[in-house]
Amino acid sequence: MVFSKNVNCCPYCGGTSKTIFRISSGIFKKCRKCDLIFRHRKRAPNYGGLVSLYGVDHFGRDSVEHQAQNRIVVFNHLLDEIEKVKKSGKLLDVGSGSGLFLRAAKERGWQVKGVEPSAKSARIASRKLGLDVVEGTLKDLRDNAKFDVITMINVLDQSGEPWRELDEARGLLKDRGVIFIRVPNGQLHSLLVRVGARVAINDRFRKYLVFHEYSFTAKFLSRLLRDKGFKGVIIRSSPPSQGDRYDLFVSSEAAKCIKAVLNAVAQFTEALTFKRIHLGTSLESMAVSGGD
Ligand SMILES: [Zn+2]
Repeated sequence: MVFSKNVNCCPYCGGTSKTIFRISSGIFKKCRKCDLIFRHRKRAPNYGGLVSLYGVDHFGRDSVEHQAQNRIVVFNHLLDEIEKVKKSGKLLDVGSGSGLFLRAAKERGWQVKGVEPSAKSARIASRKLGLDVVEGTLKDLRDNAKFDVITMINVLDQSGEPWRELDEARGLLKDRGVIFIRVPNGQLHSLLVRVGARVAINDRFRKYLVFHEYSFTAKFLSRLLRDKGFKGVIIRSSPPSQGDRYDLFVSSEAAKCIKAVLNAVAQFTEALTFKRIHLGTSLESMAVSGGD
């Protein structure tokens, strides 16, 4: 891994940036102005980038029910948080995958719909789980329905232009509608990859560090939502999913214990620093559409 100080413009705000690390999958830069971490490219990715990335079975060897077991803790937490603001109504999940979150929401009384770029995943959601899922992206929703809640769970950092996804989402929300976003914690992951370069962490651990098109810090996510007209923005660490997808731990029980401890440390640190320091491996954000 090599570190340099190349300068390139930020694709969001046009600010200057510096290279913060290089890994086998690319060079990543950070904007000095808005804090966005982005993959260096000679040309900007197309808006349809989400489709091309998800045009394969992105769940690999995991069965649908195995994923459900590992993620239900996260899904129930997200729904608990959403229901503190909205008790019920129409919920749209963007990048709904195989429909597991939608199924959990439906079981709690939400009227659910999904939009998913992967044809295979959309088919699983429709045929196996009997859910209303449109294959494609937000611009493929053509029935002009408005939603009380829109969720984007670990998808926004994989979009070619996340800011345009948020424009589209805001247009689909009712007034005072809620947007809920979950993304990998860019600040923590980029710190770990830089520390890891110095202490020669093993490749298995490196797989756990997540970098797609973009990597969002709390500062950038907060600014993006406010720029797009959302109000009451809350950013915090999100609890991890269960299981050991990357075979990091000696057993699933060990994974469960270690993740519980790390989550407790993240929550305690946030409380102690008045939500200024986020140590969770993922961030979650909730905001309200303020109307025009
Ligand atoms: Zn920027």
